Amino acid sequence: MRVVKPHNELTGIAVSPGIVIGRAYLVDRRKVRPLERYIDPETVEDEIKRFHDALEKSREQLLDVKKHYEVNNLGEYGYLVDVHLLMLNDQMIVRDTERMVRDELHNADWALWQVMHKIKEVFSGLDDEYFRDRQNDIEHLGDRILQNLVGLRLKKISDVREDVIIIAHDLSPMDTAQMDVKLVKGFVTDLGGRTSHTAILARALGIPAVVGLEKVTDVANGGDLIIVDGVSGQVTINPSEEEIERCYRRREKYFQFHRELESYVSLPAATTDDVKVTVRANIELLDELANLEHYGAEGIGLYRTEFMYINQDKLPTEEEHYQTYIKVAEAVSPLELTIRTLDLGGDKVAHTVPMEPEMNPALGLRSIRLCLHERDIFKEQLKGILRASVVGNIKMMFPMVSGVWELEKALALVEECKAELDARGVAYSDDMPIGAMIEVPSAALIADRLAKKLDFLSIGTNDLIQYALAIDRVNEHVAYLYEPLHPAVLQLIEMTVKAGERAGIPVSVCGEMAGDELYTLVLLGLGVRELSMHAASIPVIKRVVSHASTDEAKKLARKAIGMSTAVEVHEYVEQYVRAKYPGLLDPLGDETPNGEEKLV
Ligand code: PEP
Ligand code: MG
Repeated sequence: MRVVKPHNELTGIAVSPGIVIGRAYLVDRRKVRPLERYIDPETVEDEIKRFHDALEKSREQLLDVKKHYEVNNLGEYGYLVDVHLLMLNDQMIVRDTERMVRDELHNADWALWQVMHKIKEVFSGLDDEYFRDRQNDIEHLGDRILQNLVGLRLKKISDVREDVIIIAHDLSPMDTAQMDVKLVKGFVTDLGGRTSHTAILARALGIPAVVGLEKVTDVANGGDLIIVDGVSGQVTINPSEEEIERCYRRREKYFQFHRELESYVSLPAATTDDVKVTVRANIELLDELANLEHYGAEGIGLYRTEFMYINQDKLPTEEEHYQTYIKVAEAVSPLELTIRTLDLGGDKVAHTVPMEPEMNPALGLRSIRLCLHERDIFKEQLKGILRASVVGNIKMMFPMVSGVWELEKALALVEECKAELDARGVAYSDDMPIGAMIEVPSAALIADRLAKKLDFLSIGTNDLIQYALAIDRVNEHVAYLYEPLHPAVLQLIEMTVKAGERAGIPVSVCGEMAGDELYTLVLLGLGVRELSMHAASIPVIKRVVSHASTDEAKKLARKAIGMSTAVEVHEYVEQYVRAKYPGLLDPLGDETPNGEEKLV
């Protein structure tokens, strides 16, 4: 019998370009929806054995989790696992499921699902808050047993063995960092925004991705054929023949567009009036070093070192820091490497660094605040960077500085580390440039005062926009308000650039805005002369720069900054860029994934 699979088209936020087609691989644990089936009376015992095997497997997994907690000094959370282990022995779950299989000839998956449902209902009706809260535990445990019953539990990202498209409710940066780029051809998620670190990593790894789809895990099933269009944000589940052909044509156009940009790779970026713009790369993982030359990066403007902590069993030592930074600095030498000190928090979590769950992690003990709190962990890194600085091309910058007091505390720690290295007779460079990221509005407003104590500034627009506009950068529901061209954001950027000019120190932009061709002219016009971005964007940004004059960019920026709304600025800038660079913003032409074809 031919099974007709549901066809679906969803639109989300395109966060990593590229167009791929492949089979879905569901990693979302909440996805199991058992079907009601009746079994042959002769297979009752087999079905019950299958259920007990799933219970046993669940027990083993829970014991493994408990062991993992203990090994990673998280033993105090073991009680969470104990609750599940106790429930696993609950006679009601075991007995009632067995009864439904034996007496009603229901398949075990369906029987278990029904039983868990009933238990949950009982708990939800209780007055006691503690017991009401146990509903979640029941749901999680039920999911686990069900996954083992249907064999889904094994679907972890690290277990992927063939080409797939990952489908998940949400992916953390740690999940993304684990992806094998040779096998994971793309991914799509229900949650997420363009500047979430999951999205940033996807671009760094070159994996096409669409996030914020809201319900992709509801409509896609493991094994479905899926088209991920990381340019338009369109995701097509079980596409028709025609859609598949269109996908291949769009893919070819996409490659063609990038081939045409290759001529810009080896050229420096300079405007038509000969003003040089330095274009550097952001990196997260050491694997990315191999790409830098390929895309024509003029150094590394942002090395996000938190990925040395994420997915690790133990904290990096001073020596490991030193060895890593030397390796990266030598790989880009004689060009510059800007190492950003540890920026954990928000959507980046490392189990080895003590971090309490917080109500508002983006506004909590994160980034430099966390480092000033966990001084010993921070000092290991500072000493590693100081030691590596002897190679000569290293700069260091602090993230999320919100004021002078915080900066002074961080600088004092650097002095403390130098004194400790002196005492040990270990060499370091005394004049390694030190800068700060401007990503909190307060820092932009007092950039003059910060600049006096620093050698450079780097604007982190991802967070600057988040904090200036009060938009959680990882929340897909407010993604429509995340507008880099908001006049308030432009003013904060301009203030920072001017403060740098007055202090005679360079100012760069290293947020995602720097790598988006729509914003290049505005940034140029605001006086930015250094940009740092994910490497694959470098050729297109060089192309934009080399066809513009600083004069026209200035006029554009002046007009934009004087407008009242983000929508107005966006429309104006987009129209300008479309007219000046035909085809730049939609290189794949009119053939939108679900629109009418207009091939010429
Ligand atoms: C930024 O906030 O713009 C930035 C570059 O840092 P991150 O994205 O790592 O927070
Ligand atoms: Mg930031």
